[in-house]
Amino acid sequence: MKKCIHCLALLKKKTKDHVFPSSWYPDSTPTNIQRWAVPSCEACNNRLGAMEKDLFVRLGLCVSPFTAEASGISRRALESMGVGVTDVHEKERSHRTKLRNKILKDILPYQGDVGLLPGLGLHKNILPSKQKTILIPEKELVQVSTKVIKGCEYILGKRVVESPNRVEVYFCKEEQIGFVTDLFEHLPEKYLGPGFQVSRGVSDDDSRITLYRVVIWGSIKVYASIGSEEYFAMIKDLTKPL
Ligand SMILES: [Zn+2]
Repeated sequence: MKKCIHCLALLKKKTKDHVFPSSWYPDSTPTNIQRWAVPSCEACNNRLGAMEKDLFVRLGLCVSPFTAEASGISRRALESMGVGVTDVHEKERSHRTKLRNKILKDILPYQGDVGLLPGLGLHKNILPSKQKTILIPEKELVQVSTKVIKGCEYILGKRVVESPNRVEVYFCKEEQIGFVTDLFEHLPEKYLGPGFQVSRGVSDDDSRITLYRVVIWGSIKVYASIGSEEYFAMIKDLTKPL
């Protein structure tokens, strides 16, 4: 019997979770691209799905709409808030309005570079005074990123991440982690269309430390490692989680 790769519950019925949510694929994604799905229980699906929806709008509004890597993303983010949409029924419309009001509360004047999520930031050719900051909830960002990494490991590493191992995710300024980015230069990259690139490396000793870099929409970079408590204690001084 298969397990939910998130909560490890045994699955009585087959439920699939998309490693990258369906709505996150840019319009430029070729139709023959493999869209990874992994075993997940309904509860995890619903819980993570709600977080993904909220995050999609916030992140989607931050990325440039003019790149192939993110084509259609900002338009869809606006549509999920009901902007530019007319042909939906009453219930769905009120849903979208609710989401819009929630997000609008978290849109602030441009706050400078402090606390900026690496990969995002000011858009070129637009005055900073005309740009906004959108708050991204840290807990949800970490949980959804962890979910993505567990899904990638299920496909690429053919395993469910479970005790004594766990996933830790990092959002780093690349100029501060030169030794890690150098390492990724030599690792193979899995191409899942222009919106998602996944690189993975495994240590060649018994510890099987696994490193990941996932690039979303050509701009947001999620670094992660999978290892045991011992390993995380060892690298504590080198890495600083978000
Ligand atoms: Zn579950």
